[in-house]
Amino acid sequence: MKVFKITPAELDTMMLAWSKAHRVYAPALTKQPAASSDCAPGWRRVDGSAALTLPTGPTPASVKTFFFPQPETLLTYTLENNHPDKGLMREPVKSTEMQVVVGVRPCDARSVLLNNLPYQEDPFFQANRQRTALVGFTCDQTLSTCFCTQMGGSPVDSEGLDLTLSRTGDGFIVEVGSAKGEALVAGLTLTPADESGITALAAQRNAAKAEATELDRLKAGELGKLYDAPMWQSLGDSCINCGACTFICPTCYCFDIQDEVVRGQGRRIRYWDSCMFPLYSLHTSGHNPRGKKVQRTRNRFLHKLKYFPDRFGPFSCVGCGRCVQDCPVNIDIREVMTDLLAVE
Ligand code: SF4
Ligand code: SF4
Repeated sequence: MKVFKITPAELDTMMLAWSKAHRVYAPALTKQPAASSDCAPGWRRVDGSAALTLPTGPTPASVKTFFFPQPETLLTYTLENNHPDKGLMREPVKSTEMQVVVGVRPCDARSVLLNNLPYQEDPFFQANRQRTALVGFTCDQTLSTCFCTQMGGSPVDSEGLDLTLSRTGDGFIVEVGSAKGEALVAGLTLTPADESGITALAAQRNAAKAEATELDRLKAGELGKLYDAPMWQSLGDSCINCGACTFICPTCYCFDIQDEVVRGQGRRIRYWDSCMFPLYSLHTSGHNPRGKKVQRTRNRFLHKLKYFPDRFGPFSCVGCGRCVQDCPVNIDIREVMTDLLAVE
């Protein structure tokens, strides 16, 4: 693996070079609405001149929007009378232009790998993955709501990142993690990192290594016991089913598909949906298997901590803490896990 050492000025030069060749995005410092149609909420387009400022901890908006845009057009059609193609569904021409997302934290990089498990055969997600390079920054500080190490991650991990930057004294160590990362540094004159910098980074990684926690007991736990735990009732009573936790979560990936027709022009779109909404699980027959709040709340947590691991192995949570920060009624997944362990 290639490892370089760069100064902050060299980082600016790199950003400038990337923004001339690709679409480059960096985190906005607030969850502001999208500034333009080519920029997702919580992110900003970098034109090369803007200095990169990163918040401590996870970025306000997660990276899932680059792989799983909200909304995404799947098909287009016309319903104009007498149009020869009336009713004919066509796939829209999708951009294949490379997008470089800078400032990704290790928890979010890991979330892309987790979402890739159920979306392995989703052509839209995979096309977006192919054209997106992730330039990440390891965390030199964490927030009280961060718990990535409990969920199998690490604040200094490079997993899932094409380039990983780690702060070191007066600059950054840059690790090339993939062919996309290789392409991003090709043609730039960079100084190889010295041995002491590489050793210091390895020591940091060793110290922060995710430990097998007792949470793994949940994976092995008996589903019936977890499902019938009395705790769900009080949790369901508190939850107002606003769905905020699911939309901000990098590993929530549920969607709905709808047709939208404006002045005879139609598009079939998929957009983010939330298992916290009663309509989400409503059957056409009128039956709703999760019609009660308690059922929906239980489903969200059991999906992350039991159903997903049963099917794919890891928990469907990277410990970014966004839901802990944003839940209006202070539901904290860490407390839910503690309560579930007491049941097990
Ligand atoms: S953010 Fe909190 S109140 Fe809203 S749906 Fe999620 S758990 Fe319920
Ligand atoms: S469940 Fe909460 S802590 Fe876990 S990945 Fe989603 S938003 Fe982050």
